[in-house]
Amino acid sequence: MLLIRNARIASEDSAALVEGDVLVENGIIRSIGTGLSAPAGARVIDAWGRLLMPAMFDAHVHLREPGQEAKEDIGSGSEAAINGGITGLVMMPNTSPAIDSAAVVRMVLDSAAKNSRIPIYTSGCVTKDRAGKELAGIDGMRALGVRMLTDDGDTTNDPAVLLRAMQYATEFGMFFASHCEVHELAGPRALNEGVVSYRLGIKGSPACAEEIIIDRDIRLAHAAGAHIHIQHVSSKLGMETIRWWKQRGDVKVTCEVAPHHLLFTEEDIGDYDTHYKMNPPLRTKADTEALLQALIDGVFDLIATDHAPHTPFEKSQDFVSAPNGITGLETALVSLYHHFIATGRFGWDLVIKRYSAEPRRMMGLPTVPVEEGKPADFILFDPEAETTFTTAFMKSKSRNTPFLDKTLKGRVDLVVLGDAVLLERD
Ligand SMILES: [Zn+2]
Repeated sequence: MLLIRNARIASEDSAALVEGDVLVENGIIRSIGTGLSAPAGARVIDAWGRLLMPAMFDAHVHLREPGQEAKEDIGSGSEAAINGGITGLVMMPNTSPAIDSAAVVRMVLDSAAKNSRIPIYTSGCVTKDRAGKELAGIDGMRALGVRMLTDDGDTTNDPAVLLRAMQYATEFGMFFASHCEVHELAGPRALNEGVVSYRLGIKGSPACAEEIIIDRDIRLAHAAGAHIHIQHVSSKLGMETIRWWKQRGDVKVTCEVAPHHLLFTEEDIGDYDTHYKMNPPLRTKADTEALLQALIDGVFDLIATDHAPHTPFEKSQDFVSAPNGITGLETALVSLYHHFIATGRFGWDLVIKRYSAEPRRMMGLPTVPVEEGKPADFILFDPEAETTFTTAFMKSKSRNTPFLDKTLKGRVDLVVLGDAVLLERD
């Protein structure tokens, strides 16, 4: 039994915080009230000044298993998630081999059952080996619980193949997540095409490479009656395209934004800093501001990190050769607090809705509000404390993050899932 006293409880429904005590028994929130007395044997934590809220859920994570375990594996990646206040995540299938059949899905889920303290869900490929030619083993993956189909890392290039997959899989309740990029336009995928790419002398990737596929894939979903989820939107026009389709109301489209596309611009690349190299690339200040406003306005359904670990050796290559992506699981919540909540741009209700409740709904899972009778699946967050993202702090095998050794406001102090305390700081 666990009694948390004097917490300020946050929810997706209101920016207002509710003061109270929370009693957890057998993994269930038994009661919420003020002045609750501790039952015999209960552990008591005084949460004075801290926030109690639903734990986060990340719908876009690269755990690199199988095949690239030097970067990350399910064990280290799930511990990184816990360290960031996350108690569930969806793996992307661009592993080696790719997660494109029942056999690989089973391998991944078996590993998760052994090596992870939080539930791990996996997406499956749309096409075999993400090659864009033949459909993956969709039905076998569905039978093992896969709901999200994506060739993430790449666009499913051939629209006829994607349309056929949509027509087939939609009737089984599956949905599609699109990484949007016209391959021929995107070039070496180094950075946004614009003032910075011209200054550095590197061929960039124009925003239209992303925007064209955003529109194409929503049109295909419209034709097939499928649910399409647009991943890691980075451009203003791409976001406006999605908003236009949402306003039409005749296609099921959802979308996500990554914290790095809200926090950074192409200018941050400075002198070829590979910690600001990701795909889609960081774009202009106008894009970043439009994405932030769209998140506040409710255009974005989800926040998702696109956690993309790479070894220090890989990221220390020159800017063109270094792989795309940064880690995100351990920094997302604190950085959103530091930059946006603490500065008054939006409230905790937005983060809980977009980074806990909606991703769970998209995956067909129950949400985890802090309410009587619900399973205990929450975190304690200290808004007065700070986090320094040192190598010692991070549980991920990789450290490719712009936040390395930086100190931000806010700290995840406690993560509770069922009757287990997964993390307790201090
Ligand atoms: Zn992607």
